[in-house]
Amino acid sequence: MMKNTPLLFAIFGNPVKHSRSPLMHNHVFKRLHFKACYTRIHLEDGSKLKETFFAQRLEGANVTVPHKEAAFKACDEVRGFAKEIGVVNTLINENGKLIGYNTDADGFLFAVEPFKGIKNILIIGAGGTAKALSRKFQLEGFRVEVLNRSQGNLSYFKEAGFETYTWETCPLHTYDLIVNTTSAGLSDENYPAPVELLRALLEKSSYAADAIYGKVTPFLKLCNELDITYKDGADMLLGQGVLANNYFTKGQFELEDIQKVMQESFKY
Ligand code: NDP
Repeated sequence: MMKNTPLLFAIFGNPVKHSRSPLMHNHVFKRLHFKACYTRIHLEDGSKLKETFFAQRLEGANVTVPHKEAAFKACDEVRGFAKEIGVVNTLINENGKLIGYNTDADGFLFAVEPFKGIKNILIIGAGGTAKALSRKFQLEGFRVEVLNRSQGNLSYFKEAGFETYTWETCPLHTYDLIVNTTSAGLSDENYPAPVELLRALLEKSSYAADAIYGKVTPFLKLCNELDITYKDGADMLLGQGVLANNYFTKGQFELEDIQKVMQESFKY
């Protein structure tokens, strides 16, 4: 790479046009005078991730729905928490080797920090985000149960020792926090579970959170209707983005500075 060529970063996903990551990272690069540019790559086939990454001469990338597990498989080396869960959302080009990390789970912990007194959590969904959050919550000492529309993806959670349910088998336990990690509501108006079941669970819950950001999903509309304290995925997005940017910029800026500047980009 020539000395003055900006470094190139991207987000891979399908869909990816909704992603705010380019805005967030480009704003940080500009404000902190880091010579780089961040774009979007719509990727249909997750098995093409690695060849596309290197063909585009990327220095680093984020990975979103539905390629985070494919990203794990594509890596030459996976570091830290991502290794435990097999889910990667941040990729770094380290001397031609693809290195993978996961910053989603710590990003979400940052987001729910203001929710106090949480002990029991219900995670709706059994994809990559659910894996990351459930394991992280477990390590933090929370009790976690998982609800998904289908059985197949629940086997990982069962083996990891979580109580798991499908819509048909879900009991009405009391949870302090209910989290939607499904993509229901992302580009449609679906609930992540039948509305009667959600209503019964939410009525007994103190807090709710959605991983989806940038829109009020049917799940969040229901939380609003039931007067539950809730937040969308914007703070999670900020939290994971700050940590990813720290990998992209190789630790040369303070996390607080990245956070402050990245937060500004949420105004646009
Ligand atoms: P995955 O594709 O890995 O998993 C999706 C999960 O959603 C699966 O369990 C799937 O169920 C379930 N699902 C999909 N559609 C429906 C539906 N209509 N009704 C009920 N369940 C459904 O996705 P990820 O875990 O990577 O991402 C999930 C969501 O989280 C996305 O919307 C993503 O944008 C958001 N996200 C936000 C972040 C942020 O920073 N705010 C960070 C990470 C993710 P099944 O197993 O039956 O197929």
